[in-house]
Amino acid sequence: MLPDHGRSSAELLEELNTLRAADLPTQGGRTTAYVYDSGRPEVRAAAQAAYLAMLEVNGLDPTAFPSIVRLEREVVAAVASRLGGDATTPGIFTSGGTESIILAVKAARDSRPDVANPEIVVPATAHAAFHKAGHYLGVRVKQVPVSPTSFRALPEAMADAITDDTVLVVASAPSYAHGVIDPVVPIAAAAAARGVACHVDACVGGWLLPWLADAGADIPPFDLGVPGVTSLSVDLHKFGYAPKGASVLLFRDSAMRLGAYFACAEWPGYTVINSTIQSSKGAGPLAGAWATLQSLGTSGYRSLGAAALEATRRVVRGISDIPGLRVLGTPDATLVAFTVDDDPGLDVFTIADEARVRGFFLQPQLSYAGMPASLHLTLTGVSESGVDSLLATLAVAVSSARSLGPVSTDALSQIASLDFASLDDAALGALLPAVGVSFAGGTPRMAAVNAVLDGLPPASREALLTRFLSALYSPALDG
Ligand SMILES: *Cc1c(COP(=O)(O)O)cnc(C)c1O
Repeated sequence: MLPDHGRSSAELLEELNTLRAADLPTQGGRTTAYVYDSGRPEVRAAAQAAYLAMLEVNGLDPTAFPSIVRLEREVVAAVASRLGGDATTPGIFTSGGTESIILAVKAARDSRPDVANPEIVVPATAHAAFHKAGHYLGVRVKQVPVSPTSFRALPEAMADAITDDTVLVVASAPSYAHGVIDPVVPIAAAAAARGVACHVDACVGGWLLPWLADAGADIPPFDLGVPGVTSLSVDLHKFGYAPKGASVLLFRDSAMRLGAYFACAEWPGYTVINSTIQSSKGAGPLAGAWATLQSLGTSGYRSLGAAALEATRRVVRGISDIPGLRVLGTPDATLVAFTVDDDPGLDVFTIADEARVRGFFLQPQLSYAGMPASLHLTLTGVSESGVDSLLATLAVAVSSARSLGPVSTDALSQIASLDFASLDDAALGALLPAVGVSFAGGTPRMAAVNAVLDGLPPASREALLTRFLSALYSPALDG
């Protein structure tokens, strides 16, 4: 509640630190998703100082704050120059991959006023952000199955899916879930042959693959240099190691960038011209990203990339050596997904819980469209020193999950039979303890919830998840 009288900054910081104690660690490489640690204190310090210096600047009006135009142009030019463009390549600095993708879909939609019912063609492995874009923008999303063994998009199937309503074709470099690169060259060529735009989702890979290539990895062409690629998204708050809120959307030509912009003169207030979804916005993330790029430089990214590549090779080998585990596909970058071999006694989500109580967070991924449930790891520049400890923990987690056995299905069938539409916050709050989930301190065990979700069709998963989120932000889950 709002205090009657203001509190001291020291007291507030102490409270924040207490709250943060329950969070996953953001540094050290034991949280193998969500966070990207450069492991370099001087780089973090530069980003933090720059972020604070620009904290109060409002990105709403670039004519009032010309510093943001200068910084954004420098960031876009630096990024474009490594990704098949140059200092003249048009771009937009956004708050993240999802915003870059929503704006790419909007630009594609608005570049085709001739299409009444626009649709985009995406591989089944494309990031959820494309579905969010379709939902927000009224654009249909047509999913195309991928190879069941390599998890890469199939260029012929993608080409066959293009219709007169298609305004955008998508390829990932790499996909988040399995870390494999779609064949961008034939997909972009097929789109171009039909006069359709092609977006490369390099959100996670755009600022990683160039450095992996420098370190000798075999990286197929994926960037704006590929004929037919019309836009590309690259997140700096991932392998750019910048503070959160930083992504870049690049366009082949500035006419298409116009389609991402928004202007409004239909009201009596200040003239609105926005390049992003947000209007008033802090300039901290832009300054933080600029400072991180400047502070690491080419040599910094190169050595972080080489370290992440080496860590990935060791992790892939190590996982394959643990009986019962299998890496999915052949990872092209430093993202790895693994599953359990056919073994009813070994539950993949229980492995995640067992690793988490031992200090490593592995990200559960539900089965989808014939692709098995898996655990995901994103390996970064700091992962290498922790590889032995990660693999040892994983081996222990597997044997411990094996002795715990499969997740009990009683609670599962009980939940699966519920009418989710009738679940309110209190009902959901009462349900979770019944399947052994508690958020009241300690490390939450999620295997039962993940098993329940995994057994449901996607629409039911979504219904249950939105109700869970609502309960999480209500008093219903207070311990
Ligand atoms: C992370 C990611 C996104 C979404 O990015 P956010 O920054 O989380 O909004 C989109 N595509 C891919 C491939 C990603 O890895």
